[in-house]
Amino acid sequence: MSKDLVSCIQDIYSTKDQISLHEPYFDRDEELSLESVIKSTFVSSVGPLVEELESKISKYTGSIYAIAVVNGTSALQVSLELCGVKPADEVITQSLTFVASVNAIHHCSAVPIFVDVCKESMGMSPQSLNQFLEENCEVREEGCWNIKSERIIKACMPMHTFGFPCDIKEIKAVCDKYNIALVEDSAESIGSSYDKKHTGTFGEFGVISFNGNKTITTGAGGVILTDNKEKASLAKHITTTAKLPHKWNFDHDMPAYNFRMPNLNAALGLSQFNKLPFLLEQKRLIAEKYKDWGDKNGYCFKQERSGTISNYWLNTMIVNDKEERDVILEETNKSLVMTRPAWTPMHRLPFNISFQRGEMTNTEWLFDRIINVPSGVPKNEI
Ligand SMILES: *Cc1c(COP(=O)(O)O)cnc(C)c1O
Repeated sequence: MSKDLVSCIQDIYSTKDQISLHEPYFDRDEELSLESVIKSTFVSSVGPLVEELESKISKYTGSIYAIAVVNGTSALQVSLELCGVKPADEVITQSLTFVASVNAIHHCSAVPIFVDVCKESMGMSPQSLNQFLEENCEVREEGCWNIKSERIIKACMPMHTFGFPCDIKEIKAVCDKYNIALVEDSAESIGSSYDKKHTGTFGEFGVISFNGNKTITTGAGGVILTDNKEKASLAKHITTTAKLPHKWNFDHDMPAYNFRMPNLNAALGLSQFNKLPFLLEQKRLIAEKYKDWGDKNGYCFKQERSGTISNYWLNTMIVNDKEERDVILEETNKSLVMTRPAWTPMHRLPFNISFQRGEMTNTEWLFDRIINVPSGVPKNEI
């Protein structure tokens, strides 16, 4: 079976050499953009390209504001802070996620709480979220009070796993009921939507990452999405040293971050953004190839659920059990085809084991069975 899967992947990528999980797609456009920004000398914190990228992302996602920053993790951190997350407040997230989601909570000196995911969406389960809140919390004047920990749950941060939208509308309804701010970790889901609305635009804030392994990249980078005018300008302010605008004076009105995306990275991002429709179309074709192979060989590849559009960032195979997963991982990687299990669930990491959590049945079930397969767009025609 692994041999057939290896041939299927070698066919897609037209090579028998090493195939990585997700390589960026660059051509002459990126080279020209970088050449031109270097010639301009505006490679750092001044230059017009950051605003240009922000305006394109805002238009594309339908978010009224977009603030470009140095990476997705800092975008999440700032979003949480602007939701009022303070040290010792609590933030609910899913355990099946990349460590960046939880790191952002720790960067705010806040306390994570983990709830389960849905088997179907692989993202936060609105039922598990609701059950946790019903069993542990009450809504008080000061917010959602966690009776067990005696702390306030300020925010909830679901994630659209591997680009597949989670049940974000139901999650939002639960958050609204309990007076909890919603921050969507849409790091992996540019181009993905739920009920025709782009992921990352349902809550107070949404975050997209432009890391090198994502669908489009700025090298490192991320963007904060919000419809809130005051919070958008605060986000810009605190990510750019809180400098008051003036031709030569350096005045700052609060301690702040240097999280601004450099103009150099925005140049790369603009070339990448132009390719986004092409990349999404190619990724869809790759997903179809995996589905065909799976249908013929009795394996399940995750498909977008009805009412949602997935960007198919990372194609995901669900195998029968952990033993089968480990055999396939071993054999494909030995054949130079990079495959990967899901991230070790966050509640199992040593620095997270002591935090409160709900049942982890689906998280554990999926972790034992998920295999991610190469999903970057190759230079050859699909
Ligand atoms: C990539 C990613 C991030 C952000 O990562 P950066 O490398 O900081 O841009 C956050 N959450 C998830 C789930 C991710 O996959």
